Amino acid sequence: MAPTPSGYLHLGNAVNFVLTWLLVRRAGGTLHLRIDDLDRTRLRPAYLANIFQTLEWLGLDYDTGPRNPADFEQHYSQLHYLADYQQILKKLRQQPGLLYACTCSRTDILAVAPDGRYPGTCRHRHIPLDTPGAAWRIRLPDDLVVTFTDGWQGTMVINLGRDMGDFVVRKKDGYPAYQIGSVADDLRLGTTLIVRGADLLPSTAAQLWLAQQLPETAGFTAARIQFLHHPLLPGPDGQKLSKSQQQPLERGVQAQAQGPQVVFRAVALLLGLPTEASLSLEQLRQGCVESHW
Ligand SMILES: [Zn+2]
Repeated sequence: MAPTPSGYLHLGNAVNFVLTWLLVRRAGGTLHLRIDDLDRTRLRPAYLANIFQTLEWLGLDYDTGPRNPADFEQHYSQLHYLADYQQILKKLRQQPGLLYACTCSRTDILAVAPDGRYPGTCRHRHIPLDTPGAAWRIRLPDDLVVTFTDGWQGTMVINLGRDMGDFVVRKKDGYPAYQIGSVADDLRLGTTLIVRGADLLPSTAAQLWLAQQLPETAGFTAARIQFLHHPLLPGPDGQKLSKSQQQPLERGVQAQAQGPQVVFRAVALLLGLPTEASLSLEQLRQGCVESHW
């Protein structure tokens, strides 16, 4: 389970936790809690605390990882691993022409690309990488297609240039970007199963491709790691809820839902299991055992 303490956890996060818990427990695996806190500007103590509160509220146990916010800051924060991430950035930088500096603001990007996908504005501007306040982007080959087998979605063929564009590997503040931290952490922890929402398919494709650029990270492959991208929850109007659409739950699912049954029912719906109102985690686990899950 790999939440980010940049907001209160919403229904989609809780569903992801329960699904991950069910699949790992069913496989007899080791469940790790990892909190991605490289985005320090958006971290708030209340968001960090909310992760532990939500897990307790759902009744989910885990085997390794932080037990509370203090334990997290002291022993598990990604700040303790900055040297590892910087080493990866250093190696990427040594690959000729792979990285380039970008000084575009978010407003600059949205002005030319309303979908927020980076259009490659700084690709040929030759801005020095050490320019203060510049982000580092990775130059994707033209028409790059990443193919991998997903345990839920089947064979995925993702056009990374179209779906994501040259992505950031080092942020303007000098911190490594999410993709670097995520790949490095999964390798260090020996992660063998990653459960994510289908909205993160391009992100997974980006990580798989990024990892193959260096021998140090080449072990991050879909052959060594089983990926499961679950469908997003249907909203009240039947449309899929995107991550941003789920954000308006201001105090998070734990504060706003009547009880965790809301989450269990959503999981049952995704798994095609019966969704009675009083569904418990144990019933959900039994349902998984009895069905093909
Ligand atoms: Zn730029």
